[in-house]
Amino acid sequence: MVEKVDVPIGRVTMRELTGRFPRVDLGEFPTPLDEAPRFSEAVGGPRIFVKRDDLTGLAFGGNKTRQLEYLLGMAVEEGADTVITGAAAQSNMCRQTTAACAKLGLDVHLVLRKVRGDLDGIRQGNLLLDDLMGANVTLIERDEGVDQRQMILDLAQELRQEGRKVYIPHHFDGYLATISYVDCLLETLEQLEKKGVEANYIYVASGNFTYSGLVFGIKATGAPIEVRGFPAAGVAERAKCFVIQLVNETAERLSLDLSVSLEELYITDDYVGQGYGIPTQKGIAALKLLARTEGILLDPVYTSKAMAGLIDHARSGDLRPEDNVVFLHTGGTPAVFAYADVLGE
Ligand SMILES: *Cc1c(COP(=O)(O)O)cnc(C)c1O
Repeated sequence: MVEKVDVPIGRVTMRELTGRFPRVDLGEFPTPLDEAPRFSEAVGGPRIFVKRDDLTGLAFGGNKTRQLEYLLGMAVEEGADTVITGAAAQSNMCRQTTAACAKLGLDVHLVLRKVRGDLDGIRQGNLLLDDLMGANVTLIERDEGVDQRQMILDLAQELRQEGRKVYIPHHFDGYLATISYVDCLLETLEQLEKKGVEANYIYVASGNFTYSGLVFGIKATGAPIEVRGFPAAGVAERAKCFVIQLVNETAERLSLDLSVSLEELYITDDYVGQGYGIPTQKGIAALKLLARTEGILLDPVYTSKAMAGLIDHARSGDLRPEDNVVFLHTGGTPAVFAYADVLGE
């Protein structure tokens, strides 16, 4: 058994630990950390900084770029020539995976499910980009009763029988996605330090890999910051259980003596609304407010719902004027075009 190292550890040591995993270069880092003073004034609240992971530089950017640097790092190390993944038709993950595969010379297959009526059959937003970048797309209709996950596994088997070396990101290697957001936390802490700002909160549209990486990094380095997670779907309790699983596995892989309890996790499903991919009124208002005060675009599926939470907290006094808040912008902006019917009144 490998001896586990006690936390907290320093940031340099933390970086050394994540640096041991294979990684491919896909994005531009560090991403900017921009202050949003006009937005902050508009919500009458704390100082707000936006960590621009919407600007990772890979085909319109987003949080999957960091994750894919590790996930596809592993795929390349294992000699994969084909990547299969799947999600909703407007998936940012699938768009960034397609871009990464184009860049790395890997074949990519996407099994996508429509979650809403799409603009009269015209491919828009992320789905259009998948096409342009050469993904092999299988599209499942909304009411089609098929098991998407099983379709991915069946396709993998079929392609393996043809002699392909197939890799399915996030399948067994979710801890790598978590690790990529430990890096983001370290990067953000350095940027805050340079600005002489002590942040006490990070708001993020995730109760998953991104959230778990931030929490892990905070626990590992002892930074006095709370991460507040706003998932785009599902129930908070389930998300918390998944995060604990990811944190435990990541601690194991990094040989750190680290764990988190349910009570330490702040994840709320209060802003999900009617479900995944269905914009909320508050989310649309948040998107427009940030766009009109700072010229920064959010997305209708994830970040706008998290920002709706931040705005409520600022206006209710839950966040105080003396607080310093980082909003981690996880991307997703190409989806605005696929939601023109609800966003453009
Ligand atoms: C995928 C995605 C998230 C959630 O990321 P996790 O990996 O599940 O934490 C948040 N925001 C956007 C824009 C995304 O595309």
